Amino acid sequence: MSRLVVVSNRVADLSNTAQAGGLAVAMDEALKSRGGGIWFGWNGETVASGTRVPPNRQRMGNVSLITLPMTKRDYRDYYAGFSNSVLWPLLHYRLDLIEYKTVFLNAYKRVNRKFANALVPLLKKTDTIWVHDYHLFPLGTALRALGCKQKIGFFLHIPFPPPDIVTAAPQHEWLIRSMFSYDLIGFQTHTDVANFQHYVVEQAGGKVHEDGILKAFGTTTIAKCFPIGIDAEKFQLLSMDDDAQEQVKLQSMRQKLLNRKTIIGVDRLDYSKGLPDKFRAFERLLELYPEHVKKATFMQIAPPTRSDVEVYSEIRVELETLSGAINGRYADFNWVPLRYIHRSIERKTLAALFRHSEVGFVSPLRDGMNLVAKEYVAAQNEADPGVLILSKFAGAAEEMHEALIINPYDVDEMANTLNKAITMPLAERRNRHQALSRRVHENDITAWHTDFLNTLSATPAATGKT
Ligand code: UDP
Repeated sequence: MSRLVVVSNRVADLSNTAQAGGLAVAMDEALKSRGGGIWFGWNGETVASGTRVPPNRQRMGNVSLITLPMTKRDYRDYYAGFSNSVLWPLLHYRLDLIEYKTVFLNAYKRVNRKFANALVPLLKKTDTIWVHDYHLFPLGTALRALGCKQKIGFFLHIPFPPPDIVTAAPQHEWLIRSMFSYDLIGFQTHTDVANFQHYVVEQAGGKVHEDGILKAFGTTTIAKCFPIGIDAEKFQLLSMDDDAQEQVKLQSMRQKLLNRKTIIGVDRLDYSKGLPDKFRAFERLLELYPEHVKKATFMQIAPPTRSDVEVYSEIRVELETLSGAINGRYADFNWVPLRYIHRSIERKTLAALFRHSEVGFVSPLRDGMNLVAKEYVAAQNEADPGVLILSKFAGAAEEMHEALIINPYDVDEMANTLNKAITMPLAERRNRHQALSRRVHENDITAWHTDFLNTLSATPAATGKT
């Protein structure tokens, strides 16, 4: 089996397993299952512009983590700039939030070339390379330009919108053409694949063939859907971990004695997550169904993210105002309706909180997959499971039909669905949960990376790619 080289903008700290997120766990597992390999990317640190630091190598068993710092200029223009102020809003269908400067695109090209230059000396001819996410669309082209003939796969973790939106990207043709340097392109959903195919046909005059084969720009690639999963078994065990449960359980027993229900939401504080309307929907629930006043509590965990990008501070202020207004209107000396936590919470505590919450509320305006939806399902007690409410615009909605599917723009519909979830009879909860749980366990993280890497290995040889 060929050696696996994983490349992502950020290399996760594999030594901190308590905090390791989905991608970190998946990559660690994929690398180990192939007897080791390399994970290459940014170490999360910035250095003064113009500083040259050689890659740092850290061994974790038979996996080498090879990382580089980023200059302050690259951080500003490539990371906060082109990646998170242009591509992130664009690919989440938010043209109104794009902040574009020419220096951003130049930095994006430059950093992708830097990544390629640093990576090439580490590669063997027989390696398989797996590139991740929107920060690195043109990395494949930069590697090919340096003579790489290895198999290179790419996976996009966030949505891919219809061509009308993609064409708002500066130099979109260059961007999409660069993806054709990959032998295999993975998307989260069928919708994303269809949008990509539409771009290729309508904008690039290309052709779609069977088995995901696409021909355009004088070359061929394969684009398919590989919905990412979670380590369902591990998360289920985590949700029953005694340590984490202790505190959560006490709180939950108190709630149960008072016949109170908890609705839980966990989202990075990002405009794609639909948080303001989620808060409004909870307020509307209390207006439309006053029987839930003093009975239904909404706990929203929303850790900060990218606070150096301006729109993120705006949404923080909006949420603080909304939560203050809702609590001001409904709270009493013995009850707080909305508990808004603007902090990151450890995974094992999250898992226990999911298990002891009657409703999981996931309402992004647009999301690549949404792992929280799958984690909520995995954490439930199957004898008395909670109900998942899921936005139709989360990638997870393509697989999780038995959730209560909502339109995150319709506040009244969300309020009615919250009521339906809170009052759902046990038999219906169990039926829905059983189906969801089976799929979350079957299509787990191991199935995801195995399927992607097997498909990549079965693609024709990469010779001739430019
Ligand atoms: N998460 C966490 N602590 C927090 C908030 C989130 O560990 O305080 C984890 C959560 O359990 C999930 C991931 O972060 O595994 C978020 O993934 P998701 O796909 O839902 O959203 P993303 O943040 O990737 O847009």
